[in-house]
Amino acid sequence: YCANEPNSLVSDACVSYSTLERLNAELRPSIQYLTHNTDFFTYYRLDLYGRECPFWSDDQGFCGNRACAVDIADEKDIPESWRSSELGKLEGPKASQPTSSVKKGEPSPFRGGLGEETAESCIFEPSDIDKRDYCVPEDESNGKNSVYVSLVDNPERFTGYAGVSAHNVWRAIYQENCFDPQPTGNSPLATFGAVQNLNALKTVMDRRKHEVVQQNLIPPPPEEQCLEKRVFYRVLSGMHASISMHLCWDFMNQTTGQWGPNLQCYKERLHNHPDRIQNIYFNYALLLRAVTKLRSNLKSYTFCSGDKRTNELTRKRIAALTDGLAAHPPVFDESLMFRDENAPVLKEDFRNRFRNVSRLMDCVGCDKCRLWGKIQTAGYGTALKVLFEYDENAENGENPTLRRTELVALVNTLGRLSNSLYAFTRFSAMIEKERMME
Ligand code: FAD
Repeated sequence: YCANEPNSLVSDACVSYSTLERLNAELRPSIQYLTHNTDFFTYYRLDLYGRECPFWSDDQGFCGNRACAVDIADEKDIPESWRSSELGKLEGPKASQPTSSVKKGEPSPFRGGLGEETAESCIFEPSDIDKRDYCVPEDESNGKNSVYVSLVDNPERFTGYAGVSAHNVWRAIYQENCFDPQPTGNSPLATFGAVQNLNALKTVMDRRKHEVVQQNLIPPPPEEQCLEKRVFYRVLSGMHASISMHLCWDFMNQTTGQWGPNLQCYKERLHNHPDRIQNIYFNYALLLRAVTKLRSNLKSYTFCSGDKRTNELTRKRIAALTDGLAAHPPVFDESLMFRDENAPVLKEDFRNRFRNVSRLMDCVGCDKCRLWGKIQTAGYGTALKVLFEYDENAENGENPTLRRTELVALVNTLGRLSNSLYAFTRFSAMIEKERMME
C-alpha cells in the first residue's frame, strides 16, 4: 500500500501535499465560517474542571499563567435550548439521532416541550460509553460540573504550559502507541477498564513521571509496524504537531507583549522535523474523509440553535463543505485498514488505547490546553468512529449515535488542521524570504 511513493505523497494517505493544499484553499472559507460564525460550532459544553486525572496526581503541574485560563461563557449568551434550565425537560435519550424537529402547533413528545427547530439531541446527550466509541464522551448532562465555552473567545495559542507536567502527558500519550503482539498487554493504561487496583497503577505512573526528568522517553515512530499501528502513531504525532504549530503561530512576544508568529519556535519544533509536518497533512486527509462520509447524515441533522434561519445557514455551510469534498476523489481509504483475521482484536485494542488518550486530557495542568486537548482528542475519536464504525449506506438507527459534542469537536479539529496547513505555508514563505536575503 502506497509503496514506492514519491516524496510529494503523504505516506499512508497516498495523496499529495499540493492536492491537500488546493483542497484547503477551497474549503477554508466554509470551515472558517462554521467555526467562527455559527452558534452550533462555536460553543462547546464540557466538564473542564470536575474530573481528576485518573492516572497520577500532579499538584505541581498546574499552570497559573493568565494565558492558561479559560473564559467561561455566560448562559444568557447561548441559545435557550442549551441552557441548564432546559436540561432535564426530557424523559430520556432516544435510541437514535432524531432527524426531524418538533413542529409549531404539534403536540410535543417531550415532557417539558421544546421550541421550534429543537430536537432531543439539542439538550440531551447520551454520556454512556458506546462500545463503538473511540473517546470517553463528555458528560453533558452533568449540570454541576459542565460549562459552556466559546471557542472563538478562547483561541488555541501559546500559554507557557511546559516542563515536566506537559512532558508527562505527551509521554503517556505516546506510550499508548506501544502496541505489542499480545493486544492490551503492554501499555500501563490500556487495561484501564479492567484494572483491579487503581492505586497500584497510580504508583507506577507516579514513579514513571519522574523518569521523564532524566530522559526523554517518547517512543520513536513505528515504521516497521502494520498500517493500523502506524496510523495510530500518525494521529497522535499529527495532533501534537498541530498544537505546536498553533502555539508558534500565535505566540506571545514577552518583550513587546504582542501576539504573533514566532519563526524560531516553528524552526525548532517543526521545520527540522518533516515527519511531524507530514503527520499534520495525514490527519487533515483523515478528517476530510470522515466529514465526507457524514455528508448524507448532515443533510438532515438538527442544528439546535432554536432559530430556523440560523439552522438553515449552518446547514447550508456544512453542505457547501461536504458537497465541495464529494466533488473530489477521496483523499483517504479507510477500507484498507482492519482487514485481516486479527482485525476485530486489533480494532478493539486500537479503540481502547485511543480512549485512554482521551482520558489523559484530564491530566493536562493548563485549562486552555486541556480545553483544546479535549476537543481535538474528541475530534479525532469521532473521525475514527465515523471511519471504522459507520456505514454510509446503513438504515437509520444502525449507525452509532453521533453526539452534538462529537460533531462540534470534529469540525473544530478540522478547523485546527486547516489553520495548521495555512500557518505551515506562511512559515515556509518566511523561511524562503530569509534564505533569499542571506
Ligand atoms: P513538547 O512539545 O512538550 O514535546 C516533548 C517531546 O515530544 C519532544 O522533545 C519530542 O521528542 C517529542 N515530540 C514533539 N513533537 C512531536 C511530534 N509532533 N511527534 C512526535 N514526537 C514529538 N502549550 C501551549 O502553549 N498552548 C497549548 O494550547 C498547549 N496545548 C497542549 C495540549 C496538550 C494535550 C499538552 C499535553 C500540552 C499542551 N501544551 C500547550 C504544551 C506544549 O505542547 C509543549 O509540551 C510545551 O510547549 C513544551 O514544549 P517542548 O519543546 O518541551 O516539547
